[in-house]
Amino acid sequence: MQRVVIVGTGQGGQQAAVSLRQEGFAGEILMIGDEAGLPYQRPPLSKAYMASGDADALLLKPAAFYERLLITLLGRTRATRIDRAAQEVETEDKTRHGYDHLILATGAHNFRPPLPGLEAAGVMELRTLADAERIRQRLGRSRHAVVVGGGFIGLEFAAMARAANVAVTVIEAGPRLMARAVSPRMSDLFLTLHRAMGTAVLLDTMAAAVMTDASGAAAGVIVADGSEIAGDLVLIATGVRPNVELAAEAGLACRNGILVDGSLQTDDPAISALGDVAAFPGPSGHPVRLESVQAAVDHARHIARRLMTSTTTPYSAVPWFWSDQGPYKLQIAGLATDADDCILLPQASGEPVVLLFREGRLAAVETINAPGLHMAARHLIAAPASVLEAHDYDLRQAAKAVRAEAIH
Ligand SMILES: Cc1cc2nc3c(=O)[nH]c(=O)nc-3n(C[C@H](O)[C@H](O)[C@H](O)COP(=O)(O)OP(=O)(O)OC[C@H]3O[C@@H](n4cnc5c(N)ncnc54)[C@H](O)[C@@H]3O)c2cc1C
Repeated sequence: MQRVVIVGTGQGGQQAAVSLRQEGFAGEILMIGDEAGLPYQRPPLSKAYMASGDADALLLKPAAFYERLLITLLGRTRATRIDRAAQEVETEDKTRHGYDHLILATGAHNFRPPLPGLEAAGVMELRTLADAERIRQRLGRSRHAVVVGGGFIGLEFAAMARAANVAVTVIEAGPRLMARAVSPRMSDLFLTLHRAMGTAVLLDTMAAAVMTDASGAAAGVIVADGSEIAGDLVLIATGVRPNVELAAEAGLACRNGILVDGSLQTDDPAISALGDVAAFPGPSGHPVRLESVQAAVDHARHIARRLMTSTTTPYSAVPWFWSDQGPYKLQIAGLATDADDCILLPQASGEPVVLLFREGRLAAVETINAPGLHMAARHLIAAPASVLEAHDYDLRQAAKAVRAEAIH
């Protein structure tokens, strides 16, 4: 293998380039990305960056790092076509870049619901550094923000805006917050925490249109029953869709993401996919697509190892995720979806821990401001419920026992 091309210079694309070098790849690495600047982290965009505006602090590595590792970065450049027969990627300027292996790390884009008024000034979305800068500018003169969507990004933004003394209303179409990713118990806890921060949260409420003022700027949101929620900043945070176009047009199998096998390879052995865009076999065998730094980074490491060592071990990292919402750090180990049993562990200080089981095994653990318990939980995912029972649900002790058993 002489040349690897990576499309997408986000969290996963960057890690793939670095991991290839760490695994000893000495050939050419070309990264093609349509954003400006060096690869950066997205998580602080809805958190620390809003307060600090410090874009340099987001960078994954400085420019000199890529020069030293002989990683070529082609920024502000969109890959427009894959010619699988010739093993070439074409960019918008019609240049063709040959590859021995291609890694698709194209991430996701925000879903924009079909609401009238979305083009009004003051209607924002948050995915990129450029989006975050626009929101920062607007937030400085905002009095009331309306957030459409009660998922992670909407809620992180809400907590941050409340801390900046901006009034906030969150409109969520479903019956609970963060429903796709956390248990009903955790949704309820965060509803209480956000309301205590002063955020108005409307559940089971569909946004119907963005209202505008005489100048055409956003003036709030009308909901399905006709009520009007006034606001001078409207954040649309209604989830993302994977960037599959390039892969789909090249004939690769796609279904809510680029379908990959257990080694993160597409149905073309010369092409892998990772991170937000990759749908890989989950614990139940069905394709799972995760939107998390951990998945993007671990996928990248796995692909680099496979390419350099021809390992056949399937990808099986325990998923974990965090979300900082004001003073609350929510951490999830495992996958909370499809759980069939739930145990709440009260904590002497702080919020309870939620244990979720599937078919008698621990499927996920949700914690708030308890990083030690979260770390212990990562060792316990898939352990039988009896292991926890045997240790009176002391996660640290149970994790110690599981680790000791794995060593022997
Ligand atoms: C505001 C925000 C907060 C977040 N907070 C958290 C958090 O707290 N914890 C957590 O785990 N995760 C968080 N995430 C999610 C996390 O950032 C993503 O899961 C992660 O960035 C995915 O990495 P990726 O490499 O798959 O995609 P990305 O980082 O999105 O990178 C994909 C890149 O590919 C580019 N691209 C797409 N198509 C093309 C093309 N045809 N040609 C060239 N370039 C292309 C895109 O523009 C983008 O730059 C957050 C995301 C956002 C937006």
